[in-house]
Amino acid sequence: MLSSFSSIIKALFPRIAYSLQAEILKSNRKYLRLLFLFLVPTWAYGQTDTLSLLFVGDVMGHAPQISSAEVSPGLYDYNHCFQFVKKEISEADLAIANLELTLPGKPPYSGYPMFKSPDALAQALWNTGFDVLVTANNHSNDGRKTGVIKTVQTVRKIGFAQTGTFLNKLDKDLFYPLIVYKNDFKLAFLNYTYGTNGVPTDTPTIVNLIDTTLIAQDIQEAKARKPHFIIAVMHWGLEYQLTENKDQRALAIFLLKNGVDLVVGMHPHVVQPVRKEYINGKHNLVAYSLGNFISNQQQPYTDVGLMLQVDLVKTAQDIKAELYNYQTIPTWRYIHKRANQKPKFYVLPLRLLETWKSEFPEINPADLHKMKMNLEAVQKRIGQPK
Ligand SMILES: [Zn+2]
Repeated sequence: MLSSFSSIIKALFPRIAYSLQAEILKSNRKYLRLLFLFLVPTWAYGQTDTLSLLFVGDVMGHAPQISSAEVSPGLYDYNHCFQFVKKEISEADLAIANLELTLPGKPPYSGYPMFKSPDALAQALWNTGFDVLVTANNHSNDGRKTGVIKTVQTVRKIGFAQTGTFLNKLDKDLFYPLIVYKNDFKLAFLNYTYGTNGVPTDTPTIVNLIDTTLIAQDIQEAKARKPHFIIAVMHWGLEYQLTENKDQRALAIFLLKNGVDLVVGMHPHVVQPVRKEYINGKHNLVAYSLGNFISNQQQPYTDVGLMLQVDLVKTAQDIKAELYNYQTIPTWRYIHKRANQKPKFYVLPLRLLETWKSEFPEINPADLHKMKMNLEAVQKRIGQPK
């Protein structure tokens, strides 16, 4: 009886309960709180002691990706791009990506340097199983004010929890830090970028910039909400650098010392090391850069990304959660070229090296060899997780 009621609740509400809850819980309106408590009892989302998270890096939208996704004039479909990583992504309790483009909602669409992609890209990410999108990056303002607003509205409408850019101050006050509830866990997400390529942020929109004074305040705000775990997704570092720089490391230490539990980096377009830092009496994970998840970049190493899988477990008192296991799964961006047809973009996971003949029959041996070389090289470079 309980379980069937639980499944009805889950069917009625989105697969994650996030901002709405945060808004209602922050609201001073008592009746809203009561309504919320009545409608969404915590147990409806499942009582578990573990939670699996999966992070991927930059979701880019270069011009060849846009034309590749156009299946008929004005109609776009990106679902196939992610079909071979759907298993890992949909199986995670929460999957998180950096959306490094804007969604104007209508043409003209464009690739570098002002990324404007069809909404279908975000819809495909949702269909694949992503739950959270962070949007503070150097391309946040590529569509200026309208771009920020349309992007935030579109991804939230699809169902994503989203953070890093905001409609206005009220929106940020209500929804930041982003609190996500899943399986009886309460997580806080923070998201910042080093800049916006010199494109100014138009009022009233907000793009979270890296500012340690502000970040320290935000962490305090996050802690005050008593989440089990605090995650900071940072858009930082230098493009194409294979290791983190001093600034990234200093900022990572700053975040951890102030109470962040996990730091995940984006932006360099190549994979940088995953390291452990012993701070506040525990080992904390810092993934300096997950590289590109999907793009049309051709520079060395930009075709490889990392999926970071993190398992959390609650501490005995149910006050905090801690990391008890993690693994990295390299992925390869494959552009499948066919005679007289548009090339197709795919994200292929490492496991396809063993099973590619049955799962991905179209790849030719030379491309398969390239995939093998690139994935092995990145594994060697970042080291196997311990
Ligand atoms: Zn970037």
